[in-house]
Amino acid sequence: MSINQTMRRLGEERSVIREIFEYGNARKKEIGADKVFDFSLGNPSVAPPHEVNAEIVRLIAETPSVQLHGYTSAAGAPEVRAAVAEYLQTAFGAPVSASHVYMTCGAAASLTISLAAMSEAGDEFVVVAPYFPEYRVFIERAGGKVVEAKAAADFHLDLAALDRAIGARTKAVILNSPNNPTGAVYGRAELQALAALLHKKSAEKGAPVYLIADEPYRELTYGAEVACLLNLYPHTVLCYSFSKSLSLAGERIGYIAVSDDCFDADGLFAAVCGAGRALGYVCAPALFQRVCAKCLGKSGDIAAYRENRDLLWNALRKYGFDCVPPEGAFYLFVRSPEPDAKAFCERAKKYELLLVPSDSFGVEGYVRISYCVAKETIVNALPAFQKLAEEYELQQTDK
Ligand code: PLP
Repeated sequence: MSINQTMRRLGEERSVIREIFEYGNARKKEIGADKVFDFSLGNPSVAPPHEVNAEIVRLIAETPSVQLHGYTSAAGAPEVRAAVAEYLQTAFGAPVSASHVYMTCGAAASLTISLAAMSEAGDEFVVVAPYFPEYRVFIERAGGKVVEAKAAADFHLDLAALDRAIGARTKAVILNSPNNPTGAVYGRAELQALAALLHKKSAEKGAPVYLIADEPYRELTYGAEVACLLNLYPHTVLCYSFSKSLSLAGERIGYIAVSDDCFDADGLFAAVCGAGRALGYVCAPALFQRVCAKCLGKSGDIAAYRENRDLLWNALRKYGFDCVPPEGAFYLFVRSPEPDAKAFCERAKKYELLLVPSDSFGVEGYVRISYCVAKETIVNALPAFQKLAEEYELQQTDK
């Protein structure tokens, strides 16, 4: 056959999340947008902070457009890379030089570039399940093998499971905190324990086991500290995105920061540049590189996400659903009242509730609810959740 069948399959099957999102759009046309409660996609629902628009306007007014919209260097505009490095140094004391920063098209590109830069034949990449479903696509495309380490019952790290999963073939562990889909934010102590484990495994292997820190939700926490992995483990590659913090998901902008303390940091960074080149990810969107350089560390209205989280979590708990309160990001991971989460999602659809079954996240028996929606969507959806709970005869609580 004359085309790549793996790519064809990926294109035809689409992600489960996108499938539900498309169903939701079609359903909204049929019965009206306000009657469909779409909790499928992690598309930020709050406006970017005002600094974003102010900077766009300023840049357009003050910079000749040829200069503003032309190519930057492949790794990004030098002043932008310098601003990112300076921010990481001053905000976190992280060991990152401008020469180790690569501007990318969001976290997806940060991850695919980093994986391609590291991956050699036979390499394994450890992910904590449940995990962002695209990890599997990205890792396998880079020629790697996915190895799952189940999270603990509270969705924090299970060090024993990680110990079993990391072996001689492990090239890297991917960690995502605040977490999609569980909302867990890993604590400093468990990350220190992970760092100790990675040191031990690297020594046994005789080569570094890298840590890929996938952090598009870094700023979105409800009080929990997001410890900086660049400071906790030397062989760390930070994959950052402005998609969620600045509500710029459609603009495709983020960066990779390779720790200066990483084994052969210059060599790894050269491989990052090579992977960016090979994948066609050179010169991330030029206008937004410059906008983001002026908005580092900022975020949209996190209070709105917190309000949604509290409203939804309190109500679902009251109706009898079993869910751990999210510490960050904008997802609630709820245990399905029947073992088959897909069957549960089908029943939820009867009430126009669009939820994502957990199977593609690497665990069974849960659903993900994205609460980055208008508050009224949650308020209007609550009676539907209550009816769903009644259908399953869940025990209502008055807590
Ligand atoms: N990693 C995680 C954990 C995510 O949730 C997402 C998007 O939802 C991404 C990576 C990809 O982010 P981006 O849209 O910036 O490519």
